[in-house]
Amino acid sequence: MTRIVHRTLNKRYPVAVGGEGVWIVDADGRRYIDASGGAAVSCLGHGHPDINAAMHAQIDKLAYAHTSFFTTEVAEELAETLAADAPDGIGHVYFVSGGSEAVEAALKMARQYFVEIGQPQRKHFIARRQSYHGNTLGALAVGGNAWRRRQFAPLLIDVEHVSPPYAYRDMQMGESPADYGQRLVAELSDTIARLGGENVIAFVAETVGGATSGALVPPVGYLKGVRELCDRHGILLILDEVMCGMGRTGTLHACEQEGVAPDLMTVAKGLGGGYQPIGAVLASGRIVDAFARGTGFFQHGHTYLGHAVACAAALAVQQVIRRDRLLDRVRVQGRALTERLVARFGQHPHVGDIRGRGLFQAIELVSDRASKQVFDPALKLHAKIKQAAMDLGLMCYPMGGTIDGRLGDHVLLAPPFIVSDDELDMIVERLGEAVDASIAGRPV
Ligand code: PLP
Repeated sequence: MTRIVHRTLNKRYPVAVGGEGVWIVDADGRRYIDASGGAAVSCLGHGHPDINAAMHAQIDKLAYAHTSFFTTEVAEELAETLAADAPDGIGHVYFVSGGSEAVEAALKMARQYFVEIGQPQRKHFIARRQSYHGNTLGALAVGGNAWRRRQFAPLLIDVEHVSPPYAYRDMQMGESPADYGQRLVAELSDTIARLGGENVIAFVAETVGGATSGALVPPVGYLKGVRELCDRHGILLILDEVMCGMGRTGTLHACEQEGVAPDLMTVAKGLGGGYQPIGAVLASGRIVDAFARGTGFFQHGHTYLGHAVACAAALAVQQVIRRDRLLDRVRVQGRALTERLVARFGQHPHVGDIRGRGLFQAIELVSDRASKQVFDPALKLHAKIKQAAMDLGLMCYPMGGTIDGRLGDHVLLAPPFIVSDDELDMIVERLGEAVDASIAGRPV
């Protein structure tokens, strides 16, 4: 009997004992191909010798020094590296230990900014339905997933939620992607008008929707429209790239492909590639300057901010990505993954949509392609697919169709950037078998 409170109780998890490249090995010697990077985390795969060496070297020097006493060379170098490649103007870095912490910090930075500049009346956040921003209370409040929020609702700050970009279901017949994007911007504009633009702190969005929406790509021009709208009302734009960022979509930051720079951006997962828990908020100069001119500090903090070994791991991950030109590889292998998904699932009677960018892609499952009807949530198809995939030695990231009652079960794929063509073949073949067996109700 395990003493660990696992996410799902009363379930036996295989014991992971090793990993190399895109593979994880369990205590029985079974090998699993990691097609989801855990949860879009392991961008370099497992057991990378350069990352291990960097962590060892840092441990031999210094593992930890509290940030209220010291900074460290390795944290400074990582911040310089991130700032050098940050979108326009957001070259200040606040380190945390993961994605939810990054979102919490970004929300508080945004609020404190307006207090510092004498606009304390701003107290509203606007975010999107079907989004996921983490599980701490602030992050859960901006998250737009009704099922996750439900039992904690009385504890959550008030957040307005608008429609996500979800072309598969919401783009109308005859509507162009650009017009659809502008319709979404108009909805946001109406919400801002209702709240009063002078009362809104920030709009929070995943640049490419991830865990609870399945690689939702924004329609062309949408984020530019959002940026303009925010600027018109002095509202901050917070882009959450915890999942889609740090190279996963083929550029270091997903927002580069939209030609948009936010005021605050959250990153985590791929930042440290799973070698250490680490996240960060990238903040614009005007926000940090306002703190410096005002109270002189950001009223926040955690014990493990800028942990030296975590920074060493993240720095090494970022150096390998640049040295090995892995962003180019993400784009090439991303196309190779799309081709394989289209070949296997393009005509599949229960796959309604194949979408995503780079090595961040998903299939959405429907009981009927023509009507786009979702499978009965009671079937828990996503859970069956996850189990079938594990039985086949495949790690993928299926999510349920219960989300706000309209998103079909979907499977997210986010393999390490080093994935080969043969491994992509294997991933798609095993996924196809897991999906077909789960729908047919037969064992794999
Ligand atoms: N934001 C996004 C977009 C995420 O996908 C996640 C996790 O999946 C989080 C925030 C929360 O990150 P963490 O699980 O590290 O707290």
